[in-house]
Amino acid sequence: MSQTEQYEKCAYRFYLQRVERVQERPAAWSFQGTAFHSAAEKFEKEYREPSEEEMVQLFSDQYSKMVNGAMQKEPNLDWWMTANKKPAGQDIEDRYKLGQSQVREYVRWSEVNQPEIWVEDDGWNGYDIEDAPRYDLKMGLELYFKVELGGVQVRGYIDQLVRDEDKPGQYRVRDLKTGSTKSPFQLETYKVAVEKALGVKVNKGDWWLGSKGTLSPKKGVDLSQVTEEQVAERYVKMDQGVKAGKFPANPGFDCGFCSVSHACSFSRAR
Ligand code: SF4
Repeated sequence: MSQTEQYEKCAYRFYLQRVERVQERPAAWSFQGTAFHSAAEKFEKEYREPSEEEMVQLFSDQYSKMVNGAMQKEPNLDWWMTANKKPAGQDIEDRYKLGQSQVREYVRWSEVNQPEIWVEDDGWNGYDIEDAPRYDLKMGLELYFKVELGGVQVRGYIDQLVRDEDKPGQYRVRDLKTGSTKSPFQLETYKVAVEKALGVKVNKGDWWLGSKGTLSPKKGVDLSQVTEEQVAERYVKMDQGVKAGKFPANPGFDCGFCSVSHACSFSRAR
């Protein structure tokens, strides 16, 4: 799904990454995001029983493991991507601390707000722990989906599917963000995918922002009018472009965050 937005932003980047398979420059921000998501998922999956310290430790271990692995593959830190020309060593250290504080924020926010995670209606109510082993639980956490939209196969993971407190019987799709990019199209896709694959009604979506430690926007993004056809249109357009071999470059601001800019003769990255 992010492929579509990537193709729309710069089809040449899509080409370098997915067709030419150019080696991508590592970035600490992606390890920060992955390690944060693991901690948030575990915390919710275990019914918020783990302590804040345990979750921070989980983040720290995963982040360090991923950074070390990437450093072994690419020891030249000058080649790593960072924002605002920050030295990569400093960026790695800063994001370690930032990720830890975002995990703390999430744990505290979740304990106070108690989001009600969707659980597949399989006869288990999700609360009587003794009953749990009898059920192969499917929860609205890192929920994998595969749906066909306009003849194009779309796959992805939804961070969270939670009950909407304002509308009984309806749900919200939630994206946990450690960075600043928010994608309404991503929420729209999640809505359509959940309704199509699970038959669960989704009326809203939102982002939990690590930078603020809360939801944005609090009342959610209204997704009630989003249709499958509308979302499918963008996937179909991308699919047609790829099949026709159309990969125009779109140099600009985003070149500074492009992991394959070293292989691009149009790059505006400095
Ligand atoms: S460097 Fe810029 S123009 Fe080149 S592929 Fe990346 S985003 Fe596109």
